[in-house]
Amino acid sequence: MSPAKRKEKKIYLELKDKGPQKTKKNFTFLYFILAFLGILILNTYLFTGEVKNIPYSEFKSLISEGKISEVIINTETIQGTYLKEDGTKGKFMTSRVDDSELVKDLMKHNIKFTGRHENKLVKAFFSWVLPFIIIILIWNFLFRRMGGAPTSVLSFGKSRGKIYGEDEIKITFNDVAGCDEAKEELKEIIEFLRNPSKFLELGARIPKGILLVGPPGTGKTLLAKAVAGEAKVPFFSMSGSDFVEMFVGVGAARVRDLFAQAQEKAPCIIFIDELDALGKARGLNPLSSHDEREQTLNQLLAEMDGFDTKKGVIIMGATNRPEILDPALLRPGRFDRHILVDRPDIKGREEILKVHIKNVKVDKSVDLKVIAARTPGFVGADLANLVNEAALLAARKGKNRVGMEEFEEAIDRVVAGLEKKRRVMSRKEKEIVAYHEAGHALMAELLETTDPVHKISIIPRGIAALGYTLQLPTEDRYLMTKKELLDRLCVLLAGRVAEEIVFGEISTGAQNDLARATDIAKSMVKEYGMSEKLGYVTFERERKPLFLDVAPNFSGKDYSEETAREIDNEIKRLINEAYEKVKKLLIQNKDVLEKVANTLLEKETLDGNELRALIRGEEDDKSKFGEAPNRSN
Ligand code: ADP
Ligand code: ZN
Repeated sequence: MSPAKRKEKKIYLELKDKGPQKTKKNFTFLYFILAFLGILILNTYLFTGEVKNIPYSEFKSLISEGKISEVIINTETIQGTYLKEDGTKGKFMTSRVDDSELVKDLMKHNIKFTGRHENKLVKAFFSWVLPFIIIILIWNFLFRRMGGAPTSVLSFGKSRGKIYGEDEIKITFNDVAGCDEAKEELKEIIEFLRNPSKFLELGARIPKGILLVGPPGTGKTLLAKAVAGEAKVPFFSMSGSDFVEMFVGVGAARVRDLFAQAQEKAPCIIFIDELDALGKARGLNPLSSHDEREQTLNQLLAEMDGFDTKKGVIIMGATNRPEILDPALLRPGRFDRHILVDRPDIKGREEILKVHIKNVKVDKSVDLKVIAARTPGFVGADLANLVNEAALLAARKGKNRVGMEEFEEAIDRVVAGLEKKRRVMSRKEKEIVAYHEAGHALMAELLETTDPVHKISIIPRGIAALGYTLQLPTEDRYLMTKKELLDRLCVLLAGRVAEEIVFGEISTGAQNDLARATDIAKSMVKEYGMSEKLGYVTFERERKPLFLDVAPNFSGKDYSEETAREIDNEIKRLINEAYEKVKKLLIQNKDVLEKVANTLLEKETLDGNELRALIRGEEDDKSKFGEAPNRSN
């Protein structure tokens, strides 16, 4: 069903460092056996037969009774053989006591005796070194199991790391649906891989590293493969977690090997999945120093710096947590180009469904538009799963075609599965989010000094944000005027005000907006001296310690309680005034607000130009592919 199932020529490239690694592991195993044997020998050598522990007094009386036949005197103990009651010989042992008569006694009874000086070294080995070694071995063993690597006892000594190389990839951009922006950005890379010399003659600089960022299952791996397929170049892939090994140095060796092999096959693509597993910021957690990961990361950085793009090796990485990556990885010359692979919107979902339905016999009743509308928040992998689920259901029912009925049922199943993992919004919630975001966007367009809207979305992402409005500044900003700050305040409040106007009530969704609005108002009053009432005074000094993000809150206020109250009042006044302004503006433009919200509910995402067309009242927007975003007012 999945495109990956198609016949592809695959080659597995075993790692060159496999040898030493293997012996290393067997070596520890050898220790186990040796230790075991050692204990066994010790047992048989020292304690053969039953040794009776007797008190010294009994030993003395045995001597006088003449029942002792042989004695060995150690530094601390006395061992020997004696005659038991039944006449057989037995072994005994007793603690040595300071007894000057002993030797005389033994001589008197004509007993053969020898003194033996115990070998301190041997003793120390058995009583100290051996237990120590055993403890280390056990600890080592446990530690490796905790390390999360797939170590069953059986896979001991097997090499796990494989560079996965594929020569002829059949996946093309046709198999990847719905991420047009990402595809557009990758086209240049494909051109380059097809014909590196053309680019190099022109002296163009080609990016070395491309980072695909997006939630799991959105098709990052698929995209990377499609780039290789389109360019017809080999594809080397490895997962970041494969690099992190128990033994320091193994991961680094793997990185070296990966790059060495890739360079032989250039032009080609190296794809590192789960880059965050290996590229976590160093020193994020001071308690768990992870030398191995650090070494591997350093090796990767060194390799990325070391080879030059002229050979035509492009490194692609994928992660869903770009924020935890080590900043060194994102520096120019490394993974400096980021491509967002986001959750698909309704149109994207329909296209993805089209791709996956190709290999499935479907009934005429199946309407992909309806399915797409019913699956907000689904990613490509979920949709692939959905089609498969529907096909299975049809097969179970003995149908020869998959109908809408099966799809409906499959959606319920997949949604139920997903609900455990992430929220799926109800219709009502979606409406609230649509009006909220429409409020932000409309206000951003209505006010003069705000940045134009780039994109609005009501596709939920993460746990916190249910939707978002993205504004892109048209120029770099170093200063902001009071008016600009006030306008920004209005945009932040507009989400909540829109909810209030339309539904007559407010939701908890606006909490972050309010926090940010309050911060702006606070800064205006306290830092920038922008309140007429308080005058050009700043009440806040930079108290942050230079190298700590979190400022310890020991701020001794250097103003009176009365001023504090006035500051609070000023902040409140700023926010209230902004609120009234927003309310007035939104009520005046309620019809536009409704139009934007409804379009948003239908399409889930709107780009800036579509939004501005809506505001201007052009239903059919021809400007969708227009160039630079132009402002409506
Ligand atoms: P990621 O690497 O982002 O976690 P994958 O590339 O492994 O996601 O995607 C898993 C599967 O989901 C793919 O093999 C494919 O079947 C399906 N899929 C994901 N995104 C898309 C898409 N945009 N178009 C078609 N299929 C997709
Ligand atoms: Zn908001």
